[in-house]
Amino acid sequence: MLYNINVMEIKVIRSKRHSISIKINENGEVFVRCPLKYPKDELLKIINNKRQWIEKCVNDISNKKLQNKDYYMFNKILLNGKSYDIKKVDRTLIIGTNILKIKGNDVKKTLICWLKKQAQALLFKRLDLVSNFVGKDYTQATLMNARKKWGSCDNRKNIKLNYRLVMLDNKYIDYVCLHELTHTKYMNHSKLFWNEVSKFMPNWKQIKTEMSNFNFVLEIY
Ligand SMILES: [Zn+2]
Repeated sequence: MLYNINVMEIKVIRSKRHSISIKINENGEVFVRCPLKYPKDELLKIINNKRQWIEKCVNDISNKKLQNKDYYMFNKILLNGKSYDIKKVDRTLIIGTNILKIKGNDVKKTLICWLKKQAQALLFKRLDLVSNFVGKDYTQATLMNARKKWGSCDNRKNIKLNYRLVMLDNKYIDYVCLHELTHTKYMNHSKLFWNEVSKFMPNWKQIKTEMSNFNFVLEIY
């Protein structure tokens, strides 16, 4: 069911549940979940009470997209924390001193390919640096392609790093490496886990918070 409340578009999902939840996804779409037979006018009242909060969230999301428009349009790209202009000349893309031949007329595909190469060269080097620094070993490291995760570590100490991480500054790369390496000791996010992370990166919380500003790159590529 779709409600249009003063231009605000809200998807209502009824199910066997007892509570009501309002969630806004990364595209700024609003979802309201409620019990099967919950009265519509009551629901509208709740939504209207939350209206300001919902609108603020939706606006924040679209402002962020606007702010990062150049990245979404492939006019700019981040690499290791620095922003570069992407210049399109004939059949090539020029990024700093790099000249990339556009593959099959597909700019995005070309950039992904290039990013993966950069990731291969940089991320594993950082992982080894951090691994030596903290004295924790891993079995194998590979790149991964995930939309919601920067990295992972399984119980056999295999570490995966999202190739998009290469777009971020070293401090964020190091945080993800440290986080995953700490999972070789604690396979959870317990207090012990975070204490261990703090030993080597006391400001991890701030770094983690700052990092969410770059979640948009997970959407673009
Ligand atoms: Zn974790």
